[in-house]
Parts: sequence; structure tokens; C-alpha cells
Amino acid sequence: MSTNQYAVIGFFGGLIILFTIVFFGANLAIVIGLMLLAAILYFSFRGLKKPPVLTIQQKAILVDFDFYKTLTLTERKEFEYRVSYLTQNKEFMGRKDLVVTDRMKVLIAATIAQIGFGFEFITFEDFDKIIIFPKAYYSKDTGHYHKGEVNAAGVIVLSWADFLEGFQISDDGYNVGLHEIAHALRLEDAIPGDEYHFLKETDLAIWNHVAETEYDNIRAGKPSFIRSYAGTNRQEFFAVCIEQFFEQSQGFYNALPELYKAMALLIKQDPLKRKRNYF
Ligand SMILES: [Zn+2]
Repeated sequence: MSTNQYAVIGFFGGLIILFTIVFFGANLAIVIGLMLLAAILYFSFRGLKKPPVLTIQQKAILVDFDFYKTLTLTERKEFEYRVSYLTQNKEFMGRKDLVVTDRMKVLIAATIAQIGFGFEFITFEDFDKIIIFPKAYYSKDTGHYHKGEVNAAGVIVLSWADFLEGFQISDDGYNVGLHEIAHALRLEDAIPGDEYHFLKETDLAIWNHVAETEYDNIRAGKPSFIRSYAGTNRQEFFAVCIEQFFEQSQGFYNALPELYKAMALLIKQDPLKRKRNYF
């Protein structure tokens, strides 16, 4: 229950008790008061969700996750809390007979937690459904096979085979999970709600400014550290940059330091510093 609801219950409860004392005496007022208190406690505890704590098995899965290995002990606690919250509060749905496992939930939740880790906890509240296909799936809309997609209706779709490949080969700059969640991040920032405009206007302006040059280069067919798919449109440019930012941090920094720094500023984390801290 919210603070407002408590205030309303408190106010009317107090009135009822006062009324009872005046007309029926103190004994009945005490009984009614206790009943009200019991009702408040019941509804309060019923409203509480399970505290987000990872099981031992889930934690064992997380130990394999590269980003997790670069975190300090304090950061790991926070990361585990977020991963656990996400596994419990998102609806994971398998398609084409795929059975959703704990491993899928933990690794997808960890990818979401990774991209948003620089901010106060972003739960991606507008994306409550995660649909998992066993492998690339045919889309009637585009007539192509897709490895993943995100739509503004609040759904993240992933091909598990491609998600796993992206995660297992962790330095080739290809990561479907990071790519799709990067799209979700920009949409979440644009959809009005509790989690809205968390990307700072001034940081976005710097990003847009610095990104423009490289985006134009790619569209003009010039060689770039950022792979050519980024030239599709500005959303794809951002998503591809996120993949390479996390997977090829040093190469990205060496090739395009200004763009790297603009990304670190925008999403409030620098994988290079983290990796340096760890090793
Ligand atoms: Zn994309």
C-alpha cells in the first residue's frame, strides 16, 4: 500500500473509533481499532513481493558472466539484487517448444542489468515480457529471419542460439543481447513513466554531436571501427556501438576515443576502467 492509502485509512479509522467511543463506549472502540490494525498489517504483508535474492544455482550461473567478473564485491551485491529482481518480475516466455530455464532468465536479466548498471536501478518497467525463440525466427512483417527485436509495446524478443553465441564469444563486438537491450534502453528513456529521461539531455547532445561524424563516415562507405550495420539508421548505430563498447572496449577507445568517452558519459559507466580495476 502507498503512503497515501495509509493516510486515508488512518483518517477514517480514527473517525470510526472516535464515533464508537462517543456512542458505544471504549471497549467496542478497542475491538474495532484492533480489527483495523489487523486489516492494515494483512494488506501490507500481502503486498510485499519476494525479496530479490539469487538462489545458489542462479549465482553459479552468474559467475560465468564476464561483466560480473569485473565488478567489485560491493558492486556484485547490487548486481545480484538487480538480476534477481529482473528474473522475478519479468515474464519470460518460450516459443517453438522452447522451455525457459533458470540459465536463460539469469543471463538475459544480467544483460539488462549490465547496460543500466551506471544508473540508479532501471527496471525497464515498460518491457515486462521477454520472448525467447530457440534460434533465428521468421518474421512475417519483414520477410526475414530475425535474431532479436524490441517493440515499443513492451516486448523484447531474442533467439537463444544467437544470444548465447554473442555472450560466449565475448570480444568479437557481436552481442545480440546487448544490441536488443540497447534499443530497449533508448525506448525506455523515451516512453513517459517512472523511468523516463534518465539519459541526461546534455550527455545526449554530446553523444549525438560526436556520433554524427562517424555515422556519416559509415554511410559514405568509409572504413570504420564500428561495423557497417551501424549505418542502417541512428538507432542501429547506437545499438552496434553498445555491443562494441562493452566487448571491444580497448579497441573502441584506441580507434574512436571521443565517441567512446561520449558513450561512457551517456550511460554512466566505463568498461575500460572497470577492467583495469579488476586485472
Ligand atoms: Zn537493431
